[in-house]
Amino acid sequence: MHNPSQSGASLEISDLSKAYGSFKALDAVSLTARQGEFLSLLGPSGSGKTTTLNMIAGFTSPTSGEIRVDGREISTLPPYRRDIGIVFQHYALFPHLTAAQNIAFPLQRRGMPRRDVAVRVAEALEMVKLDGYGDRYPRQLSGGQQQRVAFARAVVFKPKLLLMDEPLGALDKKLREDLQGEIRRIHRSLGITFVFVTHDQEEALALSDRIAVFNHGRIEQIGTSRELYETPATEFVARFIGEANIFSGTLVRGDAGLALDTPVGLLPVETRLPAGRQASLVVRPERLEIGKAPHAGSDPHVPATVRDVVYLGSNRRIEIVFDDGRTGIIRGSGRGTDVGAGERIDIRWSIADGYVVPFSSSQT
Ligand code: ATP
Repeated sequence: MHNPSQSGASLEISDLSKAYGSFKALDAVSLTARQGEFLSLLGPSGSGKTTTLNMIAGFTSPTSGEIRVDGREISTLPPYRRDIGIVFQHYALFPHLTAAQNIAFPLQRRGMPRRDVAVRVAEALEMVKLDGYGDRYPRQLSGGQQQRVAFARAVVFKPKLLLMDEPLGALDKKLREDLQGEIRRIHRSLGITFVFVTHDQEEALALSDRIAVFNHGRIEQIGTSRELYETPATEFVARFIGEANIFSGTLVRGDAGLALDTPVGLLPVETRLPAGRQASLVVRPERLEIGKAPHAGSDPHVPATVRDVVYLGSNRRIEIVFDDGRTGIIRGSGRGTDVGAGERIDIRWSIADGYVVPFSSSQT
């Protein structure tokens, strides 16, 4: 039986930087992918994801820093000696070779005997569900099928590490979702380490064991989907992963404990940050409750006006405006969410459902 832990490499990046003139595309990034892990690099356009991937692959040389695969420093090795599989957004298949010949290419380059090549190519075609398509040229295949061939070509020589740069970016939504399922299945069955670049948070959440969130050439946080959603390290992560209500102000200590002094009122919080610090409170939309009268208990609560209600079948998405003009979002279902545009409400949440992050002035 296949043992996944034996076939994946560990990847360790320390203090990796890339400068183009005075511009730092990547600024002292460190991260680790464990053996067999599915790690996504997620972030907005220009945040340094592709630069990182290209340095792991060997297409771009670092300005400084180290890249280790299974403990071995690879920064100085040429790409073809790194033994890493790569899939790009644009399939990059050889147009004059058939699907089978494309997949055979990395094996032939490694000098594998012909008969073995034929067996491995057949296995790879079957893995990506393209048995029977081996004789077709790329132009005779759909975009999704071409990407399957590219995928088969990237893993046919059994690399321990597979890099993917927005491999589903050129496909439509339905096809993307189908291929996401396949990528997960193949990741599980091969047991190799995947590093997957995407700017699509839902795709990262659906696929990854862990996600590294990039912003301006730095990593803001690395964690599981749940950690990023429930305990974001920064306001940027809170906004980038899912939706968030965010209140900013100064932490103050009152009779009842710590509270955040915000333009919409004093909001009780639980945090390890000290009084006096500027901070932001993150409350997820599904944690908010709607009251028709001001809350009388000790839970945090804020008055707001309903701006719009979108009925989504199983739940409603309610856009609200706070009295300082900032907007917020509530998600919920049931009678309590029966409100209409223009209505005054009082929103509340349990203190444990708010998460405090240090204040930062620039978010993008
Ligand atoms: P995208 O999702 O748009 O591909 P990304 O997060 O992958 O974005 P990178 O391609 O890594 O971003 O680029 C990071 C920054 O480095 C960008 O501001 C980009 O313009 C800059 N950059 C990349 N390559 C070069 C280059 N050869 N010369 C100068 N600047 C570059």
